[in-house]
Parts: sequence; structure tokens; C-alpha cells
Amino acid sequence: MLTKLEITKNFINGTWKESETGETMTSFNPADGVIVGESQKSGLADIKLAIRDAKNAFENTDWRSNSTRRSDALMQWASNLKEKKEEIARLLTLENGKPIKEARMELNACIDTLKYFAGMARSVFGRSINLSSTSYGIIDKEPIGVVGIISPWNWPALLMIREAAPALAAGNAVILKPASRTPLISVKLVELIEGIADFPSGIVNIVTGPGRLIGDEMTTNPDVDVISFTGDTTTGKSLMKKAADKVKKLALELGGKSPNILFADADLNKAIPILAKSAFISAGQMCFAGTRVIVHESIHEEVVEGIRKEAEKLKVGNGLNESTDMGPVISEEQLKKVLEYCEIGKQETKLVTGGNRLTGGEFDNGFFIEPTIFDYVQIESRIAQEEIFGPVLAVQVFKDEDEAISLANGTNFGLAAGVWTKDVSRAVRVAKKVKAGTVWINTYNKNYPQTEFGGYKESGLGRTRGIDGLLEYTETKHINIEFDE
Ligand code: NAD
Repeated sequence: MLTKLEITKNFINGTWKESETGETMTSFNPADGVIVGESQKSGLADIKLAIRDAKNAFENTDWRSNSTRRSDALMQWASNLKEKKEEIARLLTLENGKPIKEARMELNACIDTLKYFAGMARSVFGRSINLSSTSYGIIDKEPIGVVGIISPWNWPALLMIREAAPALAAGNAVILKPASRTPLISVKLVELIEGIADFPSGIVNIVTGPGRLIGDEMTTNPDVDVISFTGDTTTGKSLMKKAADKVKKLALELGGKSPNILFADADLNKAIPILAKSAFISAGQMCFAGTRVIVHESIHEEVVEGIRKEAEKLKVGNGLNESTDMGPVISEEQLKKVLEYCEIGKQETKLVTGGNRLTGGEFDNGFFIEPTIFDYVQIESRIAQEEIFGPVLAVQVFKDEDEAISLANGTNFGLAAGVWTKDVSRAVRVAKKVKAGTVWINTYNKNYPQTEFGGYKESGLGRTRGIDGLLEYTETKHINIEFDE
């Protein structure tokens, strides 16, 4: 039940502004098609203004040199979010469709991330080195300038904060460009900084609008020093080409096709519920969703049967119901894409469960898909190779360790993986051979602001979170001092 329509504006240089285009974009609830609100459909004039003002704020305030101020500002943002968490979680569910319990989890992670980087703001350490009896080197870590943050719709709050917090902690100014499917939640998060005096005007800006126009201008404008992009690998590649002209620094967090490898000695009681959760979380619309299970032939049947039961137990429905485990996919376009993959899967291999749109009753007005499992999926097949971004799990079978590793590494992606075994040596050996930025052993989907995250191969460039995530948003400068003996 919607209480009020959210109408949002851009936030540029500390002021709420309507777009110069005079146009707006409508957000719909993917669970029932009801309008959630309107945001600005900005044009080039809006983003150019934000870039100019962000540059000005970076150059003419003490933000980049006053680490205590930055720390206090981020901590206050965390505290304001904590206060409004329930209201914002509801909006996140309405605009994205995700279950309310997942929305709360996402916002808790935002609060945790802001707090962590509030602390880190005071620890942007460089190094120093004696070079000779008359020479000394300071290796300084400096903020870069204006960071353009382009984020996706699947975890719209966390994926924006995950980049904004370290960029700000390091002393940069930011321009946020949220996905056009979820602008309202992103603007709501920025509303929380209003009144925090420690944020100088122009240090945090948000401009909503089409990626191809706004994102493109951010990527090519010489006054944006860094682009932090989280999204589809194809979009990431096109950004790289555009940024090349200005040799612009890029941080890219892209797609995945992450495997869970189960050896014969795995603790299946623990593994099976986690495998199902990791595949169907966010209706599979999660970059590191465990969308492939690579299982030893001796336990294959038991594992498939176990995950099938878990999948069929999931309560699919409107995210506002506290008992919902899985919501709809984000849009009709996404629904069609996922159902096409289901048809491909049905032709290529064996369907275990699901594979259809859910219809009837509350499902008729939303984009709901059954949790779906395909078995005996060959590595060269499309459903093993391509990121579906829907609730579709591919099971693959192996005979020995080498084959398991080869299957795990057999796609162009390398974001995350899980290894399940009681043999510690095997767990570490396999973890080191799997080409992925994160490998979980006997668990999955454990993320912390203090541990680095990012992709091998086509899953990305650079790292987010942790110390490396902070340093992504700094330049390294050697200051050399010559002195008399
Ligand atoms: P997307 O690439 O379509 O859009 C992402 C953002 O880019 C949006 O804000 C969009 O407006 C903008 N954009 C689109 N075209 C652009 C252009 N030409 N220039 C600049 N910006 C442009 O991705 P999506 O569908 O919103 O998100 C899903 C994808 O994101 C999946 O591939 C998923 O794996 C990936 N993802 C990765 C991570 C990670 O941490 N690696 C996290 C979440 C999602």
C-alpha cells in the first residue's frame, strides 16, 4: 500500500534543483506495476553544472585536507540513515521489488560501510623512504578530484554507498548517477546529508537521468577525474573505450557467473540451503549470485534433490510481505530476457524445476519467475556462459579436482566462487587456483566493508571495499626532498 508519491529533484552544489529539461522519469513497483514516484530526467546542462560545481567544491574547500571533517560527515550520514532505515527500506522494496528483509539487510550494509570509511578517512596513509644521506622521499596519497559514480538498480543503495563512502573518505567530490530504474531510493539517501554542516556544498551531488546521456558526459568530460562504474560487462567495455580518449581512471565492478564447487566430503546439511539462497537472492539479480553449482558425481543426485526442495520452499511474492523470500525481477524487459534463457535451457539440457513466469492472483501485475534449476549443464552452453540475472541455477557435474577447477574457470567472468569440502588442504589449493576476486570456503555471500571485492577477467577492474577500495580513489605522488648534510 503506497502512502505518497515520491517526487525527487537533483542535488547540485547543496541545492535541490529540477532538471533544465523539464522532464521526469517514472518509477514503477515491479511487483504490481503501481507508480512509486517521479525523478528528474536530466539533460546535458544539468550534468555539466554538477561537474563544474563539484570541481569548484573540491578545489576551493578544505574537504580534501580536513580528514576529521570528512570522518565526522560520514559518521553523521550513517547515523541519519540508521534513524530513517525503516522508511527507506520500504521505498527500496517498492522501487526495486526486493523482499523487505533484504532491503533492511542492504541498508544495514550501507550504515556499516559509511561507518567503516568514516574511520578510514583519518587513515589515508602514505609512506616515506630514506633514499640517500641527503635525500628523502615522501610517497603521498592524494584525493584525485571529481569522481563520477554510476550505479546499477539491483542493490541500488549499497552499490552507490559502497563507492561514495571511500571516494569521500579519501577527500574527493562525488557526482552520483543512479540507475534509471531506481533513482528514488538513491536520491532519498542523499537527502540524508542535508543539514550535515561538515559536508561542504558541492561535495556530494546527484543527477538522475538516462545512462547513455548523463553517464556518457561523465565519462568523456575532462573535469571528471575518475569513473566508478558498477553494472553490466558490455556497458563497462563501452565506457572503457570512451574513457580511453582522456586516459581517464576507471574502477569497474561488472558481471559474474559465480560457481559453488562441492566435493564429495562437503557438509551438505550446511551447504544446500546456502546454495539455494546464493542462487535466488534478489531473484538472481546479484552480481555474485552463485548461479552455477559444480558438484562431484558421487553426491550429484542428493545435491540436486536438496536444492530443488529448497527452491520449491521459497515464498515468492510482493516484497512488502514480511514472509516473502523472493520478489519479482526488475522489469518486463528483464522478465522476457530471463524467460528466453529458460527456453534456451529447456532445449539445451534437463530442467529440474521452475522455468516459467508465475501467473494468477497477485502475480498477474508483476514480473515474477519461478526459482529455476537446470541440471547437466555443459560448460559451452549459453546458460553456463552468460549472465542471466534472474533466478536460474545451472548444475554441472565433475569427476576429479582438475575438472572442477577447469569448469569453475571456464567462463569469461571471475567475480566470486565457493568451495565446499572438509579437507583444508584441498580447500586452500582449489581456492588459489580459482580465478575469482573472492573465494568463500564452506560459506557464501559473506561481505564486509573491510575486505576487498572485485573481479578477475571480464568481471571488473580494480577493487572496491577495504584499504585497496579506499586507495582506488587516490593518486600516488612522490615528493622528493634534497637536504644538506
Ligand atoms: P547497466 O550496465 O545497464 O547500467 C548500470 C548503470 O550504467 C546505470 O546507472 C545506467 O544508467 C548506466 N549506463 C547505461 N548505459 C550507459 C552508458 N552508455 N554510459 C554510461 N553509463 C551508462 O547495468 P544494470 O542492468 O543496471 O545492472 C546489472 C549489471 O550490473 C549486471 O551485469 C551485474 O552483474 C552488474 N553488477 C556488478 C556488481 C559488482 O560489484 N561487480 C554489482 C552489482 C551489479
